Amino acid sequence: MTNLYHEITPEGFGIAIEEDKYLFSDKSDFQTVDVFHSRAFGNVLTLDGLMMVTERDEFFYHEMIVHIPMLTHKNPENILVIGGGDGGTVRELLKYDSVKHIDMVEIDGMVIDVSKKYFPTVSCGLEDKRVSVLVQDAIDFIKGKENIYDVVLIDSTDPIGPGEGLFNENFYNNVKRALKSGGIVVPQTEGPFAQSENMQKTYKLLRKVFKFVAPYTGPMPTYPGGIWSWGFCSEEVNIPVSYSDINIKEAEKIENTCKLYNKDLHLACFKVPNFVKELANG
Ligand code: SAM
Repeated sequence: MTNLYHEITPEGFGIAIEEDKYLFSDKSDFQTVDVFHSRAFGNVLTLDGLMMVTERDEFFYHEMIVHIPMLTHKNPENILVIGGGDGGTVRELLKYDSVKHIDMVEIDGMVIDVSKKYFPTVSCGLEDKRVSVLVQDAIDFIKGKENIYDVVLIDSTDPIGPGEGLFNENFYNNVKRALKSGGIVVPQTEGPFAQSENMQKTYKLLRKVFKFVAPYTGPMPTYPGGIWSWGFCSEEVNIPVSYSDINIKEAEKIENTCKLYNKDLHLACFKVPNFVKELANG
């Protein structure tokens, strides 16, 4: 009998994946880290039993959290990734010649080590000379940072455990202070179908801190509810509504390296369902 991994949301539904080989399980100072192999999704990483990354569908998430802000920003050079220990976000960022430096601040070194060993196609950029991997709590890291980053991506776990403090007004204000002018922040803002309450609370806080706040959504097969959201936040840059609002030349280059992102989807992803609009507008 094959083992079955399953994640059931508090609402009582979820996903199940047949495991054919257990590869790793240990407890770090922050969470339980598990990796197993599945015939459906390749290697799978879970944290405290919650789905994080699979080899087969991680691109849905990493392409969306990176290319929407990066191709809307005029000239993104200095980037901050909060969380993102699997390296997928960094891998996508390194596609940009404009990127001079990336700080990746991940609280749990075990996630980085496990990703390097079991997810080489995801973590492949972590040794790049443009990347500094800082193993520390991003809540402390961001304090006192001013006028440094063009783009900040909050690639965090859910608002529980170590991730809880990444979903609050004080943290968002610290992130805003760390932005250079014209800067863009994109937090992952949970599943609009399976975690509507989390999403609504998050947008209430984002709207208190940032002038422009807009959700964008995309499919995410292994996350609860199958649809995910990210928040486009900025003080000066409004959401892109036409090709003239994005770096179209770069977008046509990047889309050829992607399985999901393309310039048409870049504009379409902000056309969100009514229930998502309601959650984001509170
Ligand atoms: N990028 C993956 C995906 O496809 O969605 C999943 C997200 S990534 C694994 C989330 C990371 O955020 C975890 O590795 C977790 O350790 C990290 N994290 C949670 N709280 C943090 C904090 N306060 N500071 C820094 N990293 C944190």
